[in-house]
Amino acid sequence: MGNYQLDRRGFLQSTGLILISSLPVLFSQKLNATSMGFDPSVERSRKERIEGYRRTLRTIKNSGQLPIIDVEHHWGTGKGVPAFPVRNLISRMDQNGVALTWLGVNESMGNEASIYESNKFPERLVPTIMHGDGPRWHAQDQSLLSEIDSEVRTGKYFAMGEFEARHYVSSTNNRDIHTPVNSNNFEVVFKASSDTGIPFLLHHEAEDILLPELEQMLVKYPNAKVIWCHVGRNRNPTTWTSFPTPDGVRRFLAKYPNLYFDILQSGRMSKFPPRNLFGGVYDAVMYDQEGDADKLRPEWLKLFNEIPNRFVIGSDINTGRWSQYDEKFERFRKAILNNLSPKSAELIAYLNAWKLMTSETLV
Ligand SMILES: [Zn+2]
Repeated sequence: MGNYQLDRRGFLQSTGLILISSLPVLFSQKLNATSMGFDPSVERSRKERIEGYRRTLRTIKNSGQLPIIDVEHHWGTGKGVPAFPVRNLISRMDQNGVALTWLGVNESMGNEASIYESNKFPERLVPTIMHGDGPRWHAQDQSLLSEIDSEVRTGKYFAMGEFEARHYVSSTNNRDIHTPVNSNNFEVVFKASSDTGIPFLLHHEAEDILLPELEQMLVKYPNAKVIWCHVGRNRNPTTWTSFPTPDGVRRFLAKYPNLYFDILQSGRMSKFPPRNLFGGVYDAVMYDQEGDADKLRPEWLKLFNEIPNRFVIGSDINTGRWSQYDEKFERFRKAILNNLSPKSAELIAYLNAWKLMTSETLV
């Protein structure tokens, strides 16, 4: 774990055992270390896998394209089977400069499915613990929680899926549900992330009244790596007042160093509730509603450029949205990445995700 590394370096520095000139070497050793305290054989295979991922990123970068790591993908039909062969995903990734996908599977497929499918393209797909989006998760099924907990700790995975707390109905499902962030479910996930350094995604609607349950856990587990999904939207201007503005996001980031965000996937005309022809609100508040192209509002662009090390890209593609794959990545590139400073774009496109999944800085 990172703490061990920091403690050791602090110890060496305090005892004068390292000369200033040796610091860069030590740093690069630390940055290349993959140790999270797993078995040596697991550490070896993690290291090999990371080398493969690094090669993929380099290849895309050398071709002149900005590589993307997709941290939020929902693989599988919800009936325990993939919708189509995983090579179809690879071909979409190739088309869109997506180097790596965290291959989150749904509950009915199970964790092992992510390993099995990822092994078919070990330099492109990242073994990921299942999403917390199914009936067993929301029923707080203890056997599922134990399974998630023990699987994360094997070290076979680099990330965990999107765990749902408060979830409104979406364009592809009807879950109107609340599994509180301070429930036993999330105790398991926060603790596993904290102990292993493996990140997880969180789905939580940003109502004012629902913020304290999240904040309580961010304080309790300062070493958990939390990626809160879909920042940049406001689904209810009456009940979402304190968080969904650049200043609200800025305040959260300043207060909780363990918090990251994946950026909203829908375009400027997105409405909530979905499939609602009359009424509802335009919820993609980070975009101008004017014009015919998605254009970030200047205050959101400023936020992403100002704190670029805390945002990542996740497509939120699932089987129901499969046909939108190209459109989502085109939007990320045209409306967001192309308008950021080159350094911010690199961080948000892949460097932050890399650091989250490997605990290394890419060198
Ligand atoms: Zn979500």
